[in-house]
Amino acid sequence: MLELLTNLCAFCNNKNLNFLETSFNFKTSAECGHQVCSNCYHGPVFQSKKVVPCPTCGKPMKKAQLKDKSWEQLQYEKEVKIRREVMRIFNLARDDFETQEEFENFRELGESIVWHRMNGVRLEWAEETLEQIEAKYRPKIQRRRAIVLDERRRFAEKQVEENERKREELLELMEAEEEERALRRLEQEEGVQVELGERRRSKVAEIRARKKKEQEEARERAAIQQGYGPQVVQFNQGAQLWTAHQLETQPRKENVQISTYENTGPDELRRLRQEAGGLDRDAASKRTHELILAGLLGA
Ligand SMILES: [Zn+2]
Ligand SMILES: [Zn+2]
Repeated sequence: MLELLTNLCAFCNNKNLNFLETSFNFKTSAECGHQVCSNCYHGPVFQSKKVVPCPTCGKPMKKAQLKDKSWEQLQYEKEVKIRREVMRIFNLARDDFETQEEFENFRELGESIVWHRMNGVRLEWAEETLEQIEAKYRPKIQRRRAIVLDERRRFAEKQVEENERKREELLELMEAEEEERALRRLEQEEGVQVELGERRRSKVAEIRARKKKEQEEARERAAIQQGYGPQVVQFNQGAQLWTAHQLETQPRKENVQISTYENTGPDELRRLRQEAGGLDRDAASKRTHELILAGLLGA
């Protein structure tokens, strides 16, 4: 049902959909984000041509390049790829700089490059700046890469020990839960109140709390590895949030437009990310502008 509301075929406005089918497959153009339903895809649209202009925006749609993913997913993957490339160079930490301000300028510049590459704006400037930064900080960047590699190696070693500890803990938890179930059975059958030993109970609570914390940390680590700052919700989580919000608050007709490029989707996602501590695009580009004015960066 969700799929019905969030996809719109650019060729038939969903008129070719067979509503008796339980699922519809839409393919998305990575070029513009507009979609083709499976009936149009296999049917009339690409019968004689491999490339047709998108009916909504006119950009070329190549049959071979249509993806089985949503526009949000494609954008998310693109951003992660760009972020990894940029953060290979923008990898310096606070103690690589004299002042907090220098460090923040550096980080904002990195975010600005990500944004410009993401949106295909001033690409030449983005590439030149990336090269300048790499040349300017080369020894520090390489030192930081070595530190990260070393950290990863130690992390992998620690991971082995950690897995062993988790396995033992899980066994203990299962044992305690089994014991508790047995006690409850006894309680029901005999009508007596039996308590799991105090020490055992607090141990179980401790294991459960630690498991929860570990899950949260793992999520955060995954976000950081993809190049996001701490505390930033992931792009695709934002998309789900937004879609859910949209379905609750918007009339049906609006929902049909969700995954097209012109609607407010991507901006809304960006806003969600900013609220969660992500890049403030306006502040970042203003800052970049100031740096250019100050002669610190080539325009
Ligand atoms: Zn169609
Ligand atoms: Zn289009």
